[in-house]
Amino acid sequence: MSKNNLSHNSDVVRILIVDDHPSTATTLARALSQLNSVEVISATNGNEALEKVKDQAVDILITDMIMPEMTGLELIEKLRDHPAGKPSRTYLVTAYDVPGLKVTAQRLKVNEVLIKPVRPERIYQIILRDIEDLKHATQPYKNVEAEKRKFKILVADDRPDNVTLLVRYLEYEGYQPVTAYDGEEVLNKAQDEMPDLILLDVNMPKKDGFAVLAEVRANEHLKHIPIIILTAARLDSADVQEGLNLGADDYIMKPFDRRELMARIRAKLRVKEAEDATRRRNRELSLLPEIGKELSARTDLTDIATILLKRTAETLGAFEGHMVMLDASGAITDNFKITVSDATLDVGQLDLQESLFNYILETRQGVIIENATATKFWKAVENDPTRSVIVAPLFGRRDLLGLLFLTHEQADYFTLDHVLLLQAIASQAAIAIENVRLYQNATEEQKQIEKIKNEFIATASHDLKNPIMSISGFSTLLTKAGPLNAQQEEFVGRIQHSTKNMLELVQNMLQLTEIDLQKMNGSQTDVDVIAVLKEIINEYEIQAQQKEQILALETSVTEVFVHGDGLQLKQVFRNLIGNAIKYTPAGGKINVLVKLLQGAVKIQVQDTGYGIPAADLPHIFDRFYRVRSGKTSEIEGNGLGLAIVKSIVEKHKGEVYVQSKPSEGTVFTVDFPLATQIAL
Ligand code: ATP
Ligand code: MG
Repeated sequence: MSKNNLSHNSDVVRILIVDDHPSTATTLARALSQLNSVEVISATNGNEALEKVKDQAVDILITDMIMPEMTGLELIEKLRDHPAGKPSRTYLVTAYDVPGLKVTAQRLKVNEVLIKPVRPERIYQIILRDIEDLKHATQPYKNVEAEKRKFKILVADDRPDNVTLLVRYLEYEGYQPVTAYDGEEVLNKAQDEMPDLILLDVNMPKKDGFAVLAEVRANEHLKHIPIIILTAARLDSADVQEGLNLGADDYIMKPFDRRELMARIRAKLRVKEAEDATRRRNRELSLLPEIGKELSARTDLTDIATILLKRTAETLGAFEGHMVMLDASGAITDNFKITVSDATLDVGQLDLQESLFNYILETRQGVIIENATATKFWKAVENDPTRSVIVAPLFGRRDLLGLLFLTHEQADYFTLDHVLLLQAIASQAAIAIENVRLYQNATEEQKQIEKIKNEFIATASHDLKNPIMSISGFSTLLTKAGPLNAQQEEFVGRIQHSTKNMLELVQNMLQLTEIDLQKMNGSQTDVDVIAVLKEIINEYEIQAQQKEQILALETSVTEVFVHGDGLQLKQVFRNLIGNAIKYTPAGGKINVLVKLLQGAVKIQVQDTGYGIPAADLPHIFDRFYRVRSGKTSEIEGNGLGLAIVKSIVEKHKGEVYVQSKPSEGTVFTVDFPLATQIAL
């Protein structure tokens, strides 16, 4: 594990000074040893230096550039791989500003290149400042992101000599230049490199500067990048106006004054930096209400973890997010993880430290771990790049439900604001998690009750069937047992009518509960709907004739197959056609239509009956619901027929719906998906 910062307990700063000029090394070493709590090691070449520090990490390295055997840059590179960790600060001392040196030094993350001769007092000042910084870096809540950031500037010009010149100026000022030589390249580089500022020429091949400007300003991701137009070509004020109107931040004519250009760049960057900070903060602040809204509707723990980790890790720039659910003893029951690079939810592997768990239980607060390699609160897994972490507790009404973690590869990345925000989000998430648990329990409690109820109805209906049958049977025998007077005969008639109704009711209830309990898994075959309809129409023929109704099947389809339970499918049409006859006055017409659709069949039962009032329509598929007004209210029924229809249709992955106009008629439509083999 490398050691980027001073650990809490070591308060001695180790400084390594390497220079092949023996007196330089000793002079500097002498100057620095006046500082408190420092250990200065000096060497006159790279190999000697490596030998001297092989067992211990170095906090600060000051090395000469040109040395025999091993250059300063090579030494820096070697020390970066030191098993005890690379130096936190590196300084390269050189007599000449070699071309390309700055770039290499930057790649090696050298903090500063010092040009010789370097006065001992200057080194003393630099190191004094570093020691302060290093000590602070181990204190809580310091944001090292503020560590001097290099601004990236995109230089766009089709003339290479212009580009070279600008690049040199910019590098000299400590900026990081990126180049582009035509309009399309500018747009591509802007996307890929996300520069902090663009210096834009107007006359360029492929796309001119104004077109580029318009596209950048129209792009959601790029529009905030400041653009300075730099041109010799278009000088009149109309052009300047056009550029500014298109959203250029500044307009500079060539030939320009170098100092003025740099001053303008600095000014724009200052504004941009402030804007970036505001934008970032706004994004962070809007996270809380947004997440709150997104979480409230969730009924699943995985959903909650996904939203929570994805949104917080993205917005706070974390590298990974973990949501760890705990039982009362602190053991992990679930561990969700998101890595920002691929943003898919995964099973995490987090070694929760007991010390952290106890600390959070005690304080009930979030925690910032500034240096994950030097704390008892974090245990790195193999190859763990984590350097800093924030942790927020998920406290439910009573218990600690779990913990949220965000990690970063840079030590000291997270701020107090971050942990406070995460804590606020965690409080909302905890409510959502408790709701999920309540909901899950409730639906489990509820399903159980439903099942008991259904089983009760099923048993009761079944047990009622026999006595009803026997009443019905004996009342029939009664008429045969002897002559009855007219009144007795009427009474027997009523008994028989009522027992018939009762039997129907009991049978319907039994059927519904059995469908609910998934008992009626009769044989599943491909059922020909046309054949079913013909059979049911046949059954009802006499009833229709008695009411002088026309009952007809109207279709050109000869066969169409639906996969399912033949008896249940018959029941659907028995109930629908039965209703149509029942709720249509004498002389009416009942039409059954069948149409083939793409992958489905549509069956309609149309009647010219009493119709259903609009207010009743939404309820007619409910159990025991009957229309209580108008003509239909005088007709007998239990209000179960349509409930059965709906249950069966849905079980067959179909749909049933109704259209009706009072006193004109009603159409019930059933759509079923076709069975795979369709005979045409
Ligand atoms: P049963 O349980 O014997 O079928 P029911 O016919 O009253 O009794 P459903 O078939 O569920 O019960 O119908 C519910 C209500 O919808 C009926 O009471 C009736 O008011 C209305 N209804 C159903 N079909 C029609 C129709 N074709 N025309 C007019 N009203 C209808
Ligand atoms: Mg009915």
